[in-house]
Amino acid sequence: MGRFDIERKEMVELLRSRGISNETVLEAMAKVERHRFVNQTFIDNAYKDIALPINSDQTISQPYTVAFMTQALEPKKEMKVLEIGTGSGYQAAVLATIGCRVYSVERHLSLVTSARKIFDQLKLRILVKAGDGTIGWGEFAPYDGIIVTAGSPSMPEPLVNQLAEGGRIVIPIGTKSNQQIVVGKKNKDTLHTTVYDGFKFVPLIGKSGWN
Ligand code: SAH
Repeated sequence: MGRFDIERKEMVELLRSRGISNETVLEAMAKVERHRFVNQTFIDNAYKDIALPINSDQTISQPYTVAFMTQALEPKKEMKVLEIGTGSGYQAAVLATIGCRVYSVERHLSLVTSARKIFDQLKLRILVKAGDGTIGWGEFAPYDGIIVTAGSPSMPEPLVNQLAEGGRIVIPIGTKSNQQIVVGKKNKDTLHTTVYDGFKFVPLIGKSGWN
């Protein structure tokens, strides 16, 4: 038994009570040790349903937000997923634990380095690179799913272009202080979208994001 096993179980039950119903997502979040991805100063709060500060002035998203976005992506084994905003690496680890093939882009090199270290320790097959994720990662496109974990002023065109037919993109869009999560499904080159209120993210900074 690990030190945080009970807290992690309780976190999953809280997510369930808040409306997360996809068992694949809940199972993955019951497995991934969030306390490995938070700054050690905040380790005792690792399983509270709150966002926490990480290096480079960024945050690890709240567990509910991770669960909500992952569920919205409808992840399946072997699905090819592009994540923009690796941050701590927690969201990518949840997707990889589900069995997705994950590609993740982060603009802060120091975060890429620390996330890569944890992925290696946990033997998670996630490819990470430093760069501006608003232009996507053309080399491995198209993706069955794209998840953006920072708030954008609009839908970045390059990401829609790198989405496979039938694929889904989950992205917060709005002002710098307030965003909605937009879920888009690509059908015959048209994006059909649904929006969900009440989320808050750090800004997506780049060519097709904030300047
Ligand atoms: N998925 C992360 C959340 C980190 S917060 C986690 O689970 O911890 C969002 C991250 O997006 C930050 O680390 C920020 O540096 C990064 N980011 C912002 N704009 C970006 C861009 N254009 N390309 C890549 N990463 C970006």
